[in-house]
Amino acid sequence: MLASMFRRPSRWILLAAALVVIPTCMPSSGAPEPSPTESPEAPVSAERPATPSARTEPSDTPPGVRAAAALLDRGAVPAPPLERATTTPDPRMEAFVDSILALMSLEEKLGQLSQPGGPGPQTGPDARAGTDAEIRAARIGSFLSVNGAELTRQLQRVAVEETRLGIPLMFAHDVIHGFRTIFPVPLGEASTWDPPLIEAATRTAAIEGAAHGIHWTYAPMVDIARDPRWGRIVEGAGEDPYLGSAMAIAKVRGFQGDDLSADNTLLATAKHYAAYGGAEGGRDYNTVDVSERTLREIYLPPFHAAVVAGAQSVMGAFNEVAGIPMHAHRYLIRDVLRGEFGFDGILVSDYTGIREMIQHGAAEDSTAAGVLGLRAGVDIDMVSRIYPLHMPAAVRAGLVEESLVDEAVRRVLRAKYMLGLFEDPYRYSVPERERTWVLTPEHRAQARDVARRSLILLKNDGQALPLRKDLGTIAVIGPLATDSVSILGGWAAAGRPEEAITVLAGIRGAVGPETRVAYARGAPADTMVTSGFDEAVALARDADVAVLVLGEHRDMSAEARNRTSLDLPGVQRELAQAVHATGTPVVVVLLNGRPLSIPWLTDNVPAILEAWFPGTEGGNAIADVLFGDHNPSGKLPVTVPRNVGQVPIYYNHKNTGRPPSEEDWYTSKYIDVPWTPLYAFGHGLSYTTFEYGEPRLSRTTMGPLDSLTVEIAVTNTGDRAGEEVVQLYLRDHVASVTRPVMELRGFEKISLEPGQSQTVSFRIGPSELAFHGPDLRRIIEPGTFTVFVGGSSADTKQVEFTVTGS
Ligand code: BGC
Repeated sequence: MLASMFRRPSRWILLAAALVVIPTCMPSSGAPEPSPTESPEAPVSAERPATPSARTEPSDTPPGVRAAAALLDRGAVPAPPLERATTTPDPRMEAFVDSILALMSLEEKLGQLSQPGGPGPQTGPDARAGTDAEIRAARIGSFLSVNGAELTRQLQRVAVEETRLGIPLMFAHDVIHGFRTIFPVPLGEASTWDPPLIEAATRTAAIEGAAHGIHWTYAPMVDIARDPRWGRIVEGAGEDPYLGSAMAIAKVRGFQGDDLSADNTLLATAKHYAAYGGAEGGRDYNTVDVSERTLREIYLPPFHAAVVAGAQSVMGAFNEVAGIPMHAHRYLIRDVLRGEFGFDGILVSDYTGIREMIQHGAAEDSTAAGVLGLRAGVDIDMVSRIYPLHMPAAVRAGLVEESLVDEAVRRVLRAKYMLGLFEDPYRYSVPERERTWVLTPEHRAQARDVARRSLILLKNDGQALPLRKDLGTIAVIGPLATDSVSILGGWAAAGRPEEAITVLAGIRGAVGPETRVAYARGAPADTMVTSGFDEAVALARDADVAVLVLGEHRDMSAEARNRTSLDLPGVQRELAQAVHATGTPVVVVLLNGRPLSIPWLTDNVPAILEAWFPGTEGGNAIADVLFGDHNPSGKLPVTVPRNVGQVPIYYNHKNTGRPPSEEDWYTSKYIDVPWTPLYAFGHGLSYTTFEYGEPRLSRTTMGPLDSLTVEIAVTNTGDRAGEEVVQLYLRDHVASVTRPVMELRGFEKISLEPGQSQTVSFRIGPSELAFHGPDLRRIIEPGTFTVFVGGSSADTKQVEFTVTGS
């Protein structure tokens, strides 16, 4: 009787409607669960030191003693608390979820927490028998990597029609930078420094993904990466927590839109929590051991931003942090993520992350691993299958409380409710949409626009670029010029190489009929074969210009693709040298998933365009920039080292007690290369030039909780229209905890006609000044701050202000 009552989705709607008028069924509130600990952001008034003005010092205290006293008491005031995610209470949803939970057996509950990989799109009903049986047995709550309107419909039908409770499935897929229309890889997206542009691109990815039956994406990856050896640097927004947070917010909004139950939005996942990018040696999955301060100031802010922006899911990281595997990290999951940040969504394991706790040496067997995961707050076990197979017995044996299982199941059911699946489980699985909502001309045009805005002009001596469109012969040389797989980048979802525009095709499409575009590969991307050099050299010799397309192929970056060298792989530098020796002008286009150390190119080639992996329309976008149809405006979201030995190298470093100095031998530098990077964070040229005026402050002194405005006039001094990313950095000179030499605290992208000026203004207030004090509470301290404003972290105008003690 019960079984038939709950079989059809329409019954769920009726039940929900009924529950809404039965007050006794409702929880007292739909507010987020109480935090297990008090937030460290709580006011610190009890220990709050007196402000300097309130201090009473004998007038005859010697200055040295006063300075020492100031060191102990800098007059810090508590910063306003960090924002928490706000959940609008939905008593109807809570009542509905509770009502289902009350009907579920322990096995059914743990089934909801289980996410295996799914069958492929071509799998027929026979081959699917095992999967269907598992669904029928209520041992699956969601699937990984399943998509396709038809396949998702079929699987959903089994869940809805053939299980006791008819709870719909969720289909998760890695929709990272596009689904069928592929946008630039996330490092390229971040290079636009244009959150609204990336939000719109992500919206398109969600539309295409949702049209394929997908409910849930495993993006954005918000891991900060300071080590380009790590292959996954390509999947994130680079090295900076501020830019990374802006991109995290843009992507969460783009995926989730305003209404998760709409048929064109996806549940977003901020991953990988936490500090995954801090792997020792840049070796993926490796140990991470960072201080809590660095965690809070560098690695956690983009997660906080994503959660506050409403991300409904977070994925755990494969790594340990200071000895505790993240899938067992109660403190970082329960206390920080849920307690402090207010995250109330689903925490999903990364792949076999639950089982891997055995290899980590944190659990002796599957049962122990599952118990650790549940206790830490990992709601869904992706792939390991430990929750459905081992946790029923563990709960019955009292190793883990059923209330923890209930808490996790509630989150899963809430997500399904928010997606609208109880109303219509087939909402996302409509074959008609799958045919019409993908790779539309509008999506292609958008991909081209985002791609060209992601390109970074690293160097352009003597206006080597843009190229004329009426040159006699253009020699396109290099292994990546025709690589339609690599141009899409990793995690290309349903992106198809045959639909991608290669660099060669883009160049061919851009020039006039009188221009000959000839191609020679020259060398493979990653082996030492030089047999193609002669052909490439001969081609270059007879050409007006040689466009060298060099870098890494797609499989040299992304998960588990780490490198110990940042050089051009294989013999590509030698190829560039051979072509350069012909005397024909050379310009270089780089396709790559990490910053590459290219000192020889930098010293010898007049123009270098960094393209990362720009996606389906990449070749057209590159041609747009090469021939001047688009004026480049991308800026580096990472520092480019001179060589791998400089790693880790990042712009927001500390000053040290012996800051690098050419004059003084015993300072923090190298004897073989300069200590500075090859290209600085924030760097990127344009075909026009911008001049920055002197920054002006609305006031030069303010109290710690006040704010001021800094204004700067930027003028386009060249002869063509262009866009510029105006960047604002801050430095707190003296503090109870040493501060970085500069930290990004604002940026704005502006567009200027030749000769036009615009005044850009930034507000600097408590959130820009705050940092984690000696006891990790966020504080603001009086003192002198420098404001840096410019078009790169290495090229700024500066002005100072003082924060007073009261
Ligand atoms: C990756 C995740 C990804 C997951 C599912 C894992 O190997 O680390 O980023 O979302 O697989 O595909």
